[in-house]
Amino acid sequence: MTVFSMRDFANHEQVVFCSDERAGLKAIIAVHNSNLGPALGGCRMWPYASEEEAVRDVLRLSRGMTYKSAMANLKLGGGKSVIIGNPRTQKTPELLAAFARALERLNGRYIAAEDSGTSVADMKFMAQYTAHVAGLSDKPTEDGMRSGDPSPATAYGTFIGIRAAVKEALQRDSLEGLRVAIQGVGNVGFDLARQLHEAGASLWVTDIHQDALERARSELGATVVAPDEIFGLDVDVFAPCALGAALNDQTIPQLKARIVAGAANNQLAEARHGVELMRRGILYAPDYVINAGGIIDIYHERIGFDRAALIRHIEGIQDNLLEIFARARKEERPTGEVADAIAEERFGK
Ligand code: NAD
Repeated sequence: MTVFSMRDFANHEQVVFCSDERAGLKAIIAVHNSNLGPALGGCRMWPYASEEEAVRDVLRLSRGMTYKSAMANLKLGGGKSVIIGNPRTQKTPELLAAFARALERLNGRYIAAEDSGTSVADMKFMAQYTAHVAGLSDKPTEDGMRSGDPSPATAYGTFIGIRAAVKEALQRDSLEGLRVAIQGVGNVGFDLARQLHEAGASLWVTDIHQDALERARSELGATVVAPDEIFGLDVDVFAPCALGAALNDQTIPQLKARIVAGAANNQLAEARHGVELMRRGILYAPDYVINAGGIIDIYHERIGFDRAALIRHIEGIQDNLLEIFARARKEERPTGEVADAIAEERFGK
């Protein structure tokens, strides 16, 4: 396996392979860029089929974090880590402690947060061994406290982003009567659905878990459709909130929505799909811009939590998107390309 010449290597500052035989730890920590501050990003635990797959994933994800944090005006760099293994069967206290010790050895150049396969509870556990974990503190909300889970902040940012996209593409401020199709009503998707429902939107939802769908139907009056029906609905907005690569050669031709705006990471299967959306007159809110609420939430936890400041910062997602949309319109370029250019200006590529 080559690393330096991988497409996703993209000038990473540092890639660290960590192991602890007794604890069964095999992990990779990637620091893409630290121009703006320490690299912060999730720690993913996944039973990768090969080491190469794990390397590719960590490099791609950590590079993405540099762009996400720079775009969100955070004093953070981009990084990510992966632990190779099945989180259901192989995540032991010994393994988490060994990983935490590996973090500690990096002296804060990389800060880990929860991701697929790790949880707030895991971060709290690791905090016994290292100072370099985030997303652990309970935070005040309008009606009580919530855990360190950044999902509500991500959902709020996505809601703000949908409002910005509606303003740009449909020239309207109100979401009353807006028709939205949501793919995936998990932690983020359900909370987004609730906010859209409260703003007067009509919802169509899909998921692979029946209980999530039943909740959206009974609590929010959402219409439930099968997973492969969600793309072709006659709606205004398609909101991908499940897995990556929702926008690809099979799904884009089905879209009737004028807007694609959702929380999922890596929504475009390939960059050319952003060009295809533009060609079809579909406005795409770049994923890492609209879903930055979670990282903004974690950043505010680190600088001293002030709820009003957090909300103002998340609402800045609207300004970022409006700037991207205006520049993309003027320069006749895909929104994703314009977002990358702005992020690169901000982190000084
Ligand atoms: P989640 O696992 O809670 O929710 C994802 C939902 O998608 C689940 O209910 C799952 O059943 C459903 N799903 C999976 N495959 C599907 C398919 N083929 N068709 C329809 N539904 C399917 O995850 P989440 O935390 O809500 O995150 C959702 C997306 O947002 C992910 O792409 C994640 O990377 C991204 N994201 C999340 C955050 C955050 O703060 N949680 C931050 C930034 C980005």
